[in-house]
Amino acid sequence: MIDDLLLKKCKEYLKILCVDITERCVGSEGNRQATRFFEKELSNLGWKTVLAEFDAIDWEENGAALRSNGKTFNVLVSPYSLAFNGEAKLVAASTTKELENLDIKDNIVLLSGEIAKEQLMPKNFVFYNPDEHQKIIRLLEKGQPKAIISATGRNPALAGGVYPFPLIEDGDFNIPSVYMTEEEGLKLISQIGKIVFLESLSKRIPGKGCNVIGKKGNKNSPKIVVTAHIDAKKGTPGAIDNATGVIVLLLLSDLLKDYNGNKLIEIVAFNGEDYYAVPGQMNYISTNKESFNKILLNINIDGAGYNEGQSAFSLFDLPDEILQPAKNVINHYSGITEGIQWPQGDHSIFLQFGVPAIAVSSKWFIDNISDQDITHTPKDNIEIVDCKKIVEISQALNTLIRSI
Ligand SMILES: [Zn+2]
Repeated sequence: MIDDLLLKKCKEYLKILCVDITERCVGSEGNRQATRFFEKELSNLGWKTVLAEFDAIDWEENGAALRSNGKTFNVLVSPYSLAFNGEAKLVAASTTKELENLDIKDNIVLLSGEIAKEQLMPKNFVFYNPDEHQKIIRLLEKGQPKAIISATGRNPALAGGVYPFPLIEDGDFNIPSVYMTEEEGLKLISQIGKIVFLESLSKRIPGKGCNVIGKKGNKNSPKIVVTAHIDAKKGTPGAIDNATGVIVLLLLSDLLKDYNGNKLIEIVAFNGEDYYAVPGQMNYISTNKESFNKILLNINIDGAGYNEGQSAFSLFDLPDEILQPAKNVINHYSGITEGIQWPQGDHSIFLQFGVPAIAVSSKWFIDNISDQDITHTPKDNIEIVDCKKIVEISQALNTLIRSI
């Protein structure tokens, strides 16, 4: 049965996180409001809280313009890019090989086609960083172009539902860059070899962010760590990705407030899943790297509560004593089903350290991960959230945690 009080709380939380707070991007004031709010709720419910702070730049942009021989082209500023204002010869590469053989020094380089099919992982990103991406970054840094223009298509699995997607989104990469649609890129090809003028108004702003960690139980007991990322991409209210995950943590911290079982329960609002440098996750790993072996289970909530379809619990490497209770919970709650395994999410961090995990999401999203156009866009707003599903997930996790 759905608890009316929890339902009411869920709606209030959703409004606070997605409407009253206008953005939750790491480094922004909105992000700090969200973590302050989360910490206050947890400590009001009797949880012992810790804030783990780190540096994180915020970013502001005021558009970009590209002109060549009286023609103008639509370009967007790459997130976290440095600004640019100047002119240079346009050169172009569509494969890594072409880039390798091209003299890009002091030119403006257009990357399109094959070389621009996937968003490049940030240069200092440690979890997943294909050699091909690192090679492109190295060639660009060595080649020293004045600026980079990328023409990109759609790639929801890696860039969310945005089109065009920024090829480069990296506050540690210091060559200014802008991006455009594939169609615009095709038009720009006529200007190769000519002088183009680019102005990109972009600014990096020093800032701070933090993870919020709430604990309950004996500090020497085996741990269950429940996580959800509290940050959102710029330009989206981040309702499904991932205010709903944070709300599950808040409702669960209420349901578990009298917990006195023999586990240490840790509730973590991770800060940075949708930020180029994943600072919260890096901070958590460096603090806990010696003690992952004390974690029995990670439960990570990301993408939950979509108003279409069921909620999905995806199970990773669960030992029998956790697998059985997890299956019981999945069978007991009619809105929940077992989901397929998917790698994009903070549960992967725990799996890397050999910790079993459950990823909680919406079945529709994990089934449509490679062609949905909602996450990281303004469409990810409170209209698409079903609060009953959020309450049901919280109740199911409460049952599960108490039965382990
Ligand atoms: Zn997410």
